[in-house]
Amino acid sequence: MSNKPNLSFGRPYLAIPGPSVMPDPVLQAMHRPAPNIYEGDLIDMMPPLMDDLRRVARTRHNATIYIGNGHGAWEAALSNTIEPGDRVLVPAVGRFGHGWADMAAGLGAEVDLIDFGRKTPFDLNRIAEALAADPGHKIKAVLAVHVDTSSSVRNDMAGLRAVLDDLGHPALLMADCIASLGCDRFEMDEWGVDVMVTGSQKGLMVPPGTFFVFFNDRAAQARARMSRVSRYWDWVPRADPEMFYQYFCGTAPTHHLFGLRASLDMIHGEGMENVWARHETLARAVWAASEAWGQGGPLSLNVADPAHRSHAVTALRLGAPLGTQLRRWVESQLGLTLGIGLGMSEDGDPKGDGFFRFGHMGHVNGHMIMGLLGGVQAGLTALDIPHGTGALEAAARVIAQKA
Ligand SMILES: *Cc1c(COP(=O)(O)O)cnc(C)c1O
Repeated sequence: MSNKPNLSFGRPYLAIPGPSVMPDPVLQAMHRPAPNIYEGDLIDMMPPLMDDLRRVARTRHNATIYIGNGHGAWEAALSNTIEPGDRVLVPAVGRFGHGWADMAAGLGAEVDLIDFGRKTPFDLNRIAEALAADPGHKIKAVLAVHVDTSSSVRNDMAGLRAVLDDLGHPALLMADCIASLGCDRFEMDEWGVDVMVTGSQKGLMVPPGTFFVFFNDRAAQARARMSRVSRYWDWVPRADPEMFYQYFCGTAPTHHLFGLRASLDMIHGEGMENVWARHETLARAVWAASEAWGQGGPLSLNVADPAHRSHAVTALRLGAPLGTQLRRWVESQLGLTLGIGLGMSEDGDPKGDGFFRFGHMGHVNGHMIMGLLGGVQAGLTALDIPHGTGALEAAARVIAQKA
């Protein structure tokens, strides 16, 4: 053959850790004329929708929907619970703990941040020391990211609850499950999480633009003690609206709600246990391939211990500038888009070109992950990046459920 064809013509695959792949049923549910927002189906669909959202969060407590993205979710949770001058403790791993801490600082909170780097989860002993050093209970909340999307580290939320309980510390436990919900197992009530926030655009498979705040009775009591909460962020009318518009403090995000209905039907049709097990198996296939590649070249998984790795996202290091080169090649030649190395600059690599990420959250299945890994195998080959053999075979054994 005289010329080398470009192989990107076909269905593109966005394998970044959010926004995630949108299922056709979600897209089709959204493709409809504007509905009446004053009476009819839209109003009637809300009570079961809220129940099904609670079932994803594994809570029997309050659920609210807001228009906004994950940063909005951070601010909404804080606005209902934290006064200017209150202390919050933020055990930060990777980027996103810093982001939530910054939102708290912007609202006037005093932030105690413990930086645990970007390769291992937070150390519960150090968090216990910080809480034990607060006998007057000035710390009103611990802001904890369940899965840090930049590093792909998963943190131990139940362990964090146990630390608070052992010390008898009354701080609220607030969890960011924006990357993890509907991917990694999360049990809000069983694990004693007081406030949980998530967004529509990751495990929930709906476009960015809505977020969800869940809160229990302890958090409701903290809200009741606030001297003021701005009307738009106030979760009280949203959680228990007398009128339909109060769910959203204004016009409903109509088409997001239709998309969310379709997504929740898919999630509960599959079953939460299978959703979690599917993500775990697909993640293990990604790790198996990555470990094999790493045997004969520079590629390495960011998180060494599989027990601390997220099932929704995987961060990898290839060394600058190869991470960016690989991303560019698979996108331009194969139609496969990988995630950038977020917050992963290091000495000699100020822009994090040595890192990249696989998003494997939400609407992903075995053939997509084999395609993703096969695409990366082709990219490593095309760019002459040294790599170990047997990666696709190793992944296939996991997908075949023989490893
Ligand atoms: C994506 C993400 C966010 C931020 O969400 P935006 O919609 O980009 O504001 C926050 N926390 C985690 C863990 C995330 O994965």
